[in-house]
Amino acid sequence: MKDHKNMKFATKAIHAGLEPDSATGAIMTPIYQTSTYVQEEIGNHKGYAYSRTLNPTRDALEKNLAAIENGNFGACFGSGLAAIDCVIKMLNPGDEVISTNDLYGGSYRIFKTIFEKYGIKFHFVPMDDVSHIHTKVNSNTKLIWVETPTNPMMNIIDIEAVAKISKSNNILLAVDNTFATPYLQTPLDLGADIVMHSATKYLGGHSDVVMGALVCNNEKIAKEIYRIQNSSGAVCGPQDSFLVLRGIKTLHLRVQRHCENGEKVARMLAKHPKVDKVYWPGFESHPNHEIAKKQMRGFGGMISFSLIGNKMEDAHALVKKVQLFSLAESLGGVESLIGHPATMTHASIPKEEREKNGIVDSLIRLSVGVEDAEDLIADLENALN
Ligand SMILES: *Cc1c(COP(=O)(O)O)cnc(C)c1O
Repeated sequence: MKDHKNMKFATKAIHAGLEPDSATGAIMTPIYQTSTYVQEEIGNHKGYAYSRTLNPTRDALEKNLAAIENGNFGACFGSGLAAIDCVIKMLNPGDEVISTNDLYGGSYRIFKTIFEKYGIKFHFVPMDDVSHIHTKVNSNTKLIWVETPTNPMMNIIDIEAVAKISKSNNILLAVDNTFATPYLQTPLDLGADIVMHSATKYLGGHSDVVMGALVCNNEKIAKEIYRIQNSSGAVCGPQDSFLVLRGIKTLHLRVQRHCENGEKVARMLAKHPKVDKVYWPGFESHPNHEIAKKQMRGFGGMISFSLIGNKMEDAHALVKKVQLFSLAESLGGVESLIGHPATMTHASIPKEEREKNGIVDSLIRLSVGVEDAEDLIADLENALN
């Protein structure tokens, strides 16, 4: 095995955890599309007994992903939510979780509608001011759940500051790193215990797979994750593992371009007379810009903005008019996407609640892709005008 500890990001993305196939020399990790493995005699196998427990294609991906997150252990799942499900299953009835309030809708749904009935209590607090966490910490608190940047308001939470609280109170800290990707942010380096991904987004990067992942450093936590992964069985298949492994090889190149295009689009929007507010952490005027600069290596291609007059019809007209930005849920693929949180991802949240968090009727969210920035800007300008 190549030693990846001293490799830089791009080298790790392409090499870590990967060896030419021992049987054929194939440079690409084969898709081991198999459920089981022949044993020479009882108890004597080549390390693989059944693919729910261990599959060589998934195993290569888990090692590669752990390396790029600067972690020691990776575990991949059938979706981001299956990865979240695994983390919460580490808890017991009576335990409490403190979570970011400005949270991915599906995470909120699994917390409230699945795990609350098993006796786990969730508190949702705004974490851009970490002092809000202190008010909810008690002896039952076992997990802090952070998502940063948040969706769709692009708030930035200071991971190091939250880690101070979690460590001094002996609480696990998990960070959903889907928006930032390990190229821009490595939460384990900032004191997190577990990193979670929807690999469906930037890691896969081509809008062709649904997958989730967890990475950690601590062997005891890893054992627990693998036990739940194998016992609950929400694993991803070998074909999807191959696709994400391939996606990660260009993650650094794609995210560099997402950042460049994101900045150009954000700056155009900020100057446009029909645009009211633009939410992008790269702006010096962004309330958490200093924290973003401290913990991220770039500001990404996710942008939200509202329109002057704040009319729902204007937002609907805009998303209809654009041609290169496709109207769709999800994010992080090479192609640009546009969404309207108030009627799409955040429709289930009551209007007043939504607006308290800044999700007004005219708010539009962009996942800026890696097309030519000039074309993207022309498309948006044409639609706005
Ligand atoms: C998409 C997403 C998830 C859920 O992941 P799935 O792969 O869709 O299950 C969780 N967190 C964030 C931030 C996401 O964008």
